[in-house]
This record gives sequence, structure tokens and C-alpha cells, in this order.
Amino acid sequence: MHDLDETEARRVRLAELILRLRRAGVTEQRVLAAMEAVPRDLFVPHESQREAYAERALPIDCGQTISAPVIVGMMTQALDLGPRDRVLEIGTGTGYQAAVLSKLCRRVYTIDRFRTLVAAAESRFKTLRLTNITTMVGDGARGWPEAAPFDRIIVTAAAEEVPPALLDQVGINGVIVAPIGPLDGVQKLRRLVRHAEGFEATDLADVRFVPLIPGIAARL
Ligand code: SAH
Repeated sequence: MHDLDETEARRVRLAELILRLRRAGVTEQRVLAAMEAVPRDLFVPHESQREAYAERALPIDCGQTISAPVIVGMMTQALDLGPRDRVLEIGTGTGYQAAVLSKLCRRVYTIDRFRTLVAAAESRFKTLRLTNITTMVGDGARGWPEAAPFDRIIVTAAAEEVPPALLDQVGINGVIVAPIGPLDGVQKLRRLVRHAEGFEATDLADVRFVPLIPGIAARL
């Protein structure tokens, strides 16, 4: 396809995506602008290019998935990000969610247990000139103690409970958004707000995420 046509096709797909987000209740202007500014096709594998903007999760490298656009939008909106915020993401995957977050906050710290995925995500960040994202290969269940406390934490892999290290690493008035529930079924997208006295939890939606797996991946 001609380059200009490609740019135009992307613009149309992004505009459609923004409409779908609005209908699904993602109405925060800053969030919509951030999602419109990230070309999702650059994060989707070649074999799924035709579905890059479709409203579904897609398979990526290492047996993982990139979440559907509306889920990314809902999670981003639920974080309620401020421009000065430092955010921790568990589950870099393709780097798409991190790229969206990077448009809305001061710095994103993102961890994945697969070195391959982190390397590919880093090269996309470079291409898109997203310079406020720091990556790490590691076990996200341990968080990132050296960089804590965080204003916001987002977990993009499912766990039966929020890992205790993450509860420790969010500041007072901080927010955690994570899919919580059975690893082989439907989870609740949970939003936790940390108050001085403890956490206040709200469930936002039913979701299905790949599981949070302890430890660094042995291969890749
Ligand atoms: N946010 C990603 C999609 C995440 S898929 C995107 O926008 O593309 C879930 C990711 O969580 C996978 O890449 C998987 O490798 C990672 N993951 C699972 N368990 C983990 C753990 N303990 N620590 C870090 N990453 C983990």
C-alpha cells in the first residue's frame, strides 16, 4: 500500500476506535487524545495486522495477548492519571498500554518476565520517541522497590489477589487497577484506592486476562 494511503487508513481506524471508546464510557478527553496518538498497528504482530484496530484481544509473541482497545481505555481512565504521576505497569507485553500511559504521566515503569517482549517494546518506544518509559525484565509480583512509591499501579495480567508487594508500593491516595479472580476464567477488573486507613475497592467490569506467572521466564 502507498504510504499516504496507509497514514489515511490509520487515521480512519483511530477515529473509529475513539467513537467505540466513547460509547463504552471512556469519555475523558485526555485519555481519548492519548489513545488517538498511539498507532496500535505498530504494536500488533504482522499476521494480525488486519485486526489491529478490532475490538478484541490479539495473540502476541511468547503466548501472550494484547488487550482489546476498550479494555486499555477503561483501565487507563480508571487510573485517573495526573501529568506529574509516576506509574508502574506489570506486564509490558507489546508495550501498547505503556505507550498510552506515557502520554498522560511523568514516567512509566514497566516490567515483563519475557526478555523478548521487553526488547521488542523498547524498540517501539524508540521508534515513537517515547522517552519517559523505563523497562525491566523481572517478576512484576515483586514490584519495583527501588522506584517506589508509585502514584498509580496497573497490572495487565490476572491474579487471584493483588500481590502484597504492589499494595506496599503504591502511595497514599494512590490507585491500583488490576484484573482479580480465577486464572482460568473471568476476572473482575478491580480499582483500589489507598487511604491512610486502608484500601477501598470497586469492581469495574468482567475481563479475561492471561495469568500473572511468578518468576522470570526461563527461556526467551
Ligand atoms: N500490557 C500489555 C499486554 C499484557 S499481556 C500490552 O499492552 O501489550 C500480560 C503480560 O504479563 C505478558 O506479556 C506476560 O509475560 C506478563 N507477565 C505475566 N506474569 C508476569 C510477572 N510475574 N511479571 C512480569 N510480567 C508478567
